[in-house]
Amino acid sequence: MSKIILKNSDEIELIRKSAQIVSKTLGMLASEIKPGINSLILDELAESFIRDHGAKPGFLGLYDFPNTLCVSPNSQVVHGIPNKEPLRNGDILSIDCGVLYNGFYGDHAYTFEVGEVKPEIKKLLKISKESLYKGISEFKIGNRIGDIGFAIQKYNEKEGYGIVRELVGHGLGKTMHEGPEVPNYGKKGKGKKIQEGMVIAIEPMINMGSHKIKQLNDGWTILTSDGMPSAHFEHNIAIIDGMPKLLSTFKYIYDELGISSDEEEKFEITSL
Ligand code: MG
Ligand code: MG
Repeated sequence: MSKIILKNSDEIELIRKSAQIVSKTLGMLASEIKPGINSLILDELAESFIRDHGAKPGFLGLYDFPNTLCVSPNSQVVHGIPNKEPLRNGDILSIDCGVLYNGFYGDHAYTFEVGEVKPEIKKLLKISKESLYKGISEFKIGNRIGDIGFAIQKYNEKEGYGIVRELVGHGLGKTMHEGPEVPNYGKKGKGKKIQEGMVIAIEPMINMGSHKIKQLNDGWTILTSDGMPSAHFEHNIAIIDGMPKLLSTFKYIYDELGISSDEEEKFEITSL
């Protein structure tokens, strides 16, 4: 991965604008996800929505990826390709979306429930998402990148979940993937120093079973090696005045789904 590029407040604001378009896209998709719909329709809706906002899909064509969304149901971890397979009641669907707007990227992800999902899968989603915020809390001046992964790993492993090793979070800005790499596992006090103006994507990929993964021969889709479900939640965060501030939000998803949550409150931007 390339080097770390620190951002000034104008650049952070531009990344925030891109991330917010992704947030709104995920919110729009939340109202469409139900048994019977397929991920190709979701992909078309997302592409139109992003273009209507004057932005470009960030993944389409990136490393030759063929679509706007990465859609990864059930045992797929990330990088699934949209297709015409209808979603079924009880599925989960991880959607990762990127946009490019005014020269800067936003990139975040959410795992949705399709209809009525089994309690043990609901728990996987809950713990995975909570671990994202545990990681975000450690992204602050005085800490190192390893502190983020340590917190995420500890929170998930106490439930017996597997943390995917091969794929990691990353810096973002004028390119989708910049330094530093942000693993979802790690050691306290290790890794790069966290600095003012860093902007990163933290994105735990958490398997209900083994951490081991494999890839389909489509060259993209990553899935769990044991066939058990996997969850993926991703936010974009900047260091402002030494502390982690969210550039993305799940509030548009929660508005659609009627969920109330205060999980983002302490990471909200008060001034730029
Ligand atoms: Mg990412
Ligand atoms: Mg992503």
